[in-house]
Amino acid sequence: MQDTSAQRYSRQELFAPIGAAGQARLAKARVAIVGVGALGTVSAGQLARAGVGFLRCIDRDVVDWTNLQRQVLFDERDAEAGVAKATAAAEQLRHFNSRIQVEPVTADLTSANIHTLLSDVDLIVDATDNVQVRQLLNDWAVSRSIPWIYGAAVSSYGVTCLIRPGVTPCLTCLFGEGDTGGHDTCDTVGVIAAVTGIIASAQVAEALKFLTGNQAALRDGLLYVDVWHNEWRSLPFGDRRMDCPTCGLRQFPLLEARSGSVTVTFCGRQTIQVRPQADTTVNLPHLAERLRRLGSVRANDSLLRFEVDEIQLSLFADGRALIHGVTDPAAARSFYARYVGM
Ligand SMILES: [Zn+2]
Repeated sequence: MQDTSAQRYSRQELFAPIGAAGQARLAKARVAIVGVGALGTVSAGQLARAGVGFLRCIDRDVVDWTNLQRQVLFDERDAEAGVAKATAAAEQLRHFNSRIQVEPVTADLTSANIHTLLSDVDLIVDATDNVQVRQLLNDWAVSRSIPWIYGAAVSSYGVTCLIRPGVTPCLTCLFGEGDTGGHDTCDTVGVIAAVTGIIASAQVAEALKFLTGNQAALRDGLLYVDVWHNEWRSLPFGDRRMDCPTCGLRQFPLLEARSGSVTVTFCGRQTIQVRPQADTTVNLPHLAERLRRLGSVRANDSLLRFEVDEIQLSLFADGRALIHGVTDPAAARSFYARYVGM
């Protein structure tokens, strides 16, 4: 059969703001999609079909049956076999468009691999389902001035915006630095595919505008959609926070956490949770012996409490710690490194 694939973008090129010039830009564009689940499968599919030249699909998970209701690149064979999502997605994307390059990466995005995985792209699509990865992404994107498209959906509602470091507010400007979750999740309240499809499509729209140089068309704010309660809201960005720790003061504590070390989250005022990134077991009675000469210690097999210089540590056997009396993540991390080790 005659190869008429050169015409595959004809309808997109007929769309005047893209045209042949925009299409040529898409062919050269490099995009990373972080998370290949409900949002990521939709955006990856659309970006592949649109002819974005390079797509890196990053996900740490395998396909299971609960995914099939909304994760559009996977089918029953993938769930049956428990294939890695990144691999299954890449395979499907190559069937959509064999002329682009698709690179699957099965990994957790961490401070250790984020440089390798995101340094060579023009744009990052956030399709993760967790706050910590988004905060890491925000730190990294701001530190490197690479735009990224925030997206989140749960239940019947979702939010998205394009974050351009130095131009728009960043994630910390928008939601503050103390956001550690405690939100509804797909695992607690469910999610319907109608909303993930809309949010991912809205992300793709901004991606196409950005990658084809249609700056004036970019949405200058957040889109909030609730498909069940019939709400569509556009929330203007407002100004960047000049005192924003991330894009104002350029502090990137999450990037400084070393590989295999810890993640840090806030748990209310003056309490910071430090959690090892790798599975670990701490021998608490043994550690208690070590700490006894440095401060006050109480310990049993499941919990150790330690206090020194008005800072209190509650350490669990899995290495997770709550550190009370500090407000700075870097201070919490260094306290943990000093007394527990990482
Ligand atoms: Zn900011």
